[in-house]
Amino acid sequence: MDEFSLIQQYFQRKSKQNSSIGVRLGIGDDAALLAPPAQHELVISTDTLIAGRHFPFETDAFDIGWKAVAVNLSDLAAMGATAHSILLALTLPKADPEFLAKLAEGIFALCDASNVTLIGGDTTRGETLSLTVTALGWIPTGQAILRSGAQVGDLIVVSNTLGDAAFALQHLTNTKLDPNLKSRLDRPIPRLELGKALRGYASAMLDISDGLAQDLGHILTASDVAGQIHVEKLPFSTLLAALSAEIRAPLALSGGDDYELCFTISPQKFADFQQLWLVNDLPLTVIGEIVQHTPKNERLTISYNHQPFHVNTQGFKHFD
Ligand code: ADP
Ligand code: MG
Repeated sequence: MDEFSLIQQYFQRKSKQNSSIGVRLGIGDDAALLAPPAQHELVISTDTLIAGRHFPFETDAFDIGWKAVAVNLSDLAAMGATAHSILLALTLPKADPEFLAKLAEGIFALCDASNVTLIGGDTTRGETLSLTVTALGWIPTGQAILRSGAQVGDLIVVSNTLGDAAFALQHLTNTKLDPNLKSRLDRPIPRLELGKALRGYASAMLDISDGLAQDLGHILTASDVAGQIHVEKLPFSTLLAALSAEIRAPLALSGGDDYELCFTISPQKFADFQQLWLVNDLPLTVIGEIVQHTPKNERLTISYNHQPFHVNTQGFKHFD
């Protein structure tokens, strides 16, 4: 199969293509054409997933496609953006029809669920399977939620539960691994609705991909403040809650692959926000607070029942 028929067969969807508002021209020309809404800024992000590095070689093709889209939409969510479209640069060792069909299914499943259109990409042959997705979204001008806005007195809040994906990764060979935990690793859900709803409420935000401690550290540094987190407040799934704090806390603090949102917000705004978020079943948990950064205190203090809690706060790093 040549590259053009491959694209046509698996990635160009006649019925749905160009259906999103603002997609003037999708797959098939030299470039796509978009019409951005007035008074909005373009939010754009890219991430690569490489087989054997970001996911095990034996990962299901549907899950690979899903996750490549998910990690990128998660970055848009973390800015408060409305997701709009993606580009996919795909490197394949071979053109296996069964694999490609499932890969495309996973990609489109999350695109459809998120109202996102695949508008283009690139297809090449290479030794290792790799997917680079570029995600595009919009945000009303000036409303993006940056890492640099955290204020002294703000609460630190996270969505859902933490550590499930890291636990699943550690127990991949266990055939009795709970399917819910496995799906936290393989099919993360970008928190686009929450991200958008937090416009005008959150003072700073990011998505947790490399472990809470390291990622929250980015907010603290960018905002030049310090943070305190309380291990006893961290939200865990029932399965992880059954483990000892010594085992589950490091999964949340330095595990990675959570793709939940972590944001800072004033106590007053959080009270207001909770009223309007009530209808959603995605839990939000206050895990700590922002304090002043002085020459005397650490950037991030982690305590467990008021005692210092020691954990390796180094999350995933690519070049260590
Ligand atoms: P060019 O040689 O001009 O770069 P390509 O042959 O790479 O064109 O791509 C042809 C069309 O198919 C373009 O619109 C491109 O965006 C799209 N495309 C290529 N690969 C993919 C892919 N993996 N997923 C989605 N669209 C793709
Ligand atoms: Mg090309």
